[in-house]
Amino acid sequence: MAAPARKPAYCNNVGEFATLKQNRRRDAQLMRMTYRGRFAPSPTGPLHFGSLVAAVGSYVRARAQDGAWLVRMEDLDPPREVPGAAQDILATLGAFGMVSDEPVVFQSRREAAYQAAFDTLRTRAEIFPCWCSRTNLEVYGGLHRGACVAAPDRARAPAWRVRVLDRRIEFTDLLQGPYAQQLACDVGDFVIRRIEGWFAYQLAVVVDDAEARITEVVRGSDLLDSTPRQIYLQQLLGLSTPAYLHLPLALDAQGHKLSKSDAARQVDPRDPVPALRAAFAFLGMAEAARAAALRPQALLAFAAQHFDLADLRRTAACAPQASGKD
Ligand SMILES: [Zn+2]
Repeated sequence: MAAPARKPAYCNNVGEFATLKQNRRRDAQLMRMTYRGRFAPSPTGPLHFGSLVAAVGSYVRARAQDGAWLVRMEDLDPPREVPGAAQDILATLGAFGMVSDEPVVFQSRREAAYQAAFDTLRTRAEIFPCWCSRTNLEVYGGLHRGACVAAPDRARAPAWRVRVLDRRIEFTDLLQGPYAQQLACDVGDFVIRRIEGWFAYQLAVVVDDAEARITEVVRGSDLLDSTPRQIYLQQLLGLSTPAYLHLPLALDAQGHKLSKSDAARQVDPRDPVPALRAAFAFLGMAEAARAAALRPQALLAFAAQHFDLADLRRTAACAPQASGKD
């Protein structure tokens, strides 16, 4: 039987053109419906203005796309964690009108998934055990490049590193524009399992984003330079790469990232509206910052309705003074 004639890519029949337009509209709608974003705080203290900016940015972007917004608790670093901080952050997000559309994922409970990815990389010889200390690597500018400096020491557990090739990894951030790294000279072979046995952030985040079918990662710009490592791991594990949108960082008066400075202040869950307006203003959503609504949910809905990527601020700036309580 003869194969049916292929239709040309263009179309000059009015009826077919209308169908094409309908299909495009349907595809755009489908893309919006399948949008899945997330907010992934570390429970190292209460939610502060800098984290609120990331939460609000990711939430409003997801809602503007009619998409899902998920929360993941990045509690993989026990020494840095503060007891009760995870529940405190979730309660504060709730007071600000932001609740995860699906059950909150805790990284501390996902060891099996990280182990499976680790085993895959090990089977493929993409990772190697390493006993090199920071001091060992000082002569190479702190980078691990190919061969180990320290000899294996079977009496101690090793760290595990990914072998990076001399390859340029590039992507276009939706807000920050094109970004590239030459992994071998910019970051070197990087750790995915620490000496203490914990899986490192870079591996966990890639496994979690893939499993949650995240289509777009919206987060603070402090993670911009982690992104090429994550894209590299996605490629090694055969996972798809989401879109990325890195928001401006909120700084203290000395120019330090808010979360790492002494001036980091908790946002007040009992009075969320002023901090929410301040977060909108910081992000560049001027209309939402001035909106008449008096409840957090209504303000967020207004912000999503009026969301325009072109409005967003790109560069870091000082957090407003009145963003939290002392
Ligand atoms: Zn080494």
